Amino acid sequence: MIGFIGLGIMGRPMAKNLIKAGHKLIVYDKVADISEFTALGAEIAKSNKEVAQKSEIIITMLPNSPHVKEAVLGAGGVIEGAKSGSILVDMSSIAPKASQEICAALKEKGITMIDAPVSGGEPKAIDGSLAIMAGGDKVAFEKVKPILEKMGSSVILVGGIGSGNVTKLANQIIVALNIAAVSEAFTLAAKAGVEPEAVFNAIKGGLAGSTVMNAKVPMILDGNFKPGFRIELHIKDLQNALDTAHELNVPIQLTASVMEVLQALKVDGFAANDHSAIVRYYEKLAKKEVRK
Ligand code: NAD
Repeated sequence: MIGFIGLGIMGRPMAKNLIKAGHKLIVYDKVADISEFTALGAEIAKSNKEVAQKSEIIITMLPNSPHVKEAVLGAGGVIEGAKSGSILVDMSSIAPKASQEICAALKEKGITMIDAPVSGGEPKAIDGSLAIMAGGDKVAFEKVKPILEKMGSSVILVGGIGSGNVTKLANQIIVALNIAAVSEAFTLAAKAGVEPEAVFNAIKGGLAGSTVMNAKVPMILDGNFKPGFRIELHIKDLQNALDTAHELNVPIQLTASVMEVLQALKVDGFAANDHSAIVRYYEKLAKKEVRK
């Protein structure tokens, strides 16, 4: 049996893909209504502990380090129910240091942990084509890899525990800076009187083109900022990136700058918007919207 904890925007479709692939699941979410999983043949647990008691592999997909610590190490948590020999695969994007701390606590009980955050967002979670970057014990990784392959089209072990999340921080820096660059450039083009859609079509096949541009510009042109990936989650990731970088004596100036853009958007009430709403910051300054 596979346990799945945290059935939000990402966890829900990921768990559904495991069910579709024929796995037996026991699921739990502290807040979200997950009653639809009964009809899909999954068991619904009453606690994180119960999930761990009934499964050999436990997957978590939670917002941030404190949530994973609570669900795994807190009262009624995974650590209270998990059998020695079981494997925890944390697919949340959290601080690498937190992964290492949780892993060490679990090790004392004979439980192995892999950190395996994902990239690709809700659409790729739905079609099972996430990019999964894992860290941890190689033997445990090989055991869970076939399961991860039901949720992702790329599953790569990058190093020891925490290195999956280091890789994810690198990913999140690149995505945030890319959206900011696209937003700044498209605001300039729109204010100069050039159709933003024409700009997109003209440059998407050249060196400036990117997966980020292809995914986010159509949303910006439609003024559709429904998440997707919420600004508040990107603030969380950049905070983890800044903390980790400063602990390692690595100045990350561009990340710090985009962090302040995200903070301004939060003040303006856009924390629950998709991160493509970064464009709103530039639109406000330039007094010009980037729309079709
Ligand atoms: P979400 O907020 O939609 O889902 C998280 C779920 O965890 C919620 O349903 C919440 O009720 C549950 N939860 C919180 N604490 C819990 C606890 N102690 N026990 C049990 N359940 C608990 O978030 P999401 O968008 O699905 O993101 C999950 C993770 O994946 C985050 O770390 C995020 O950064 C990462 N991620 C998200 C995306 C995206 O596009 N949304 C893309 C890649 C990675």
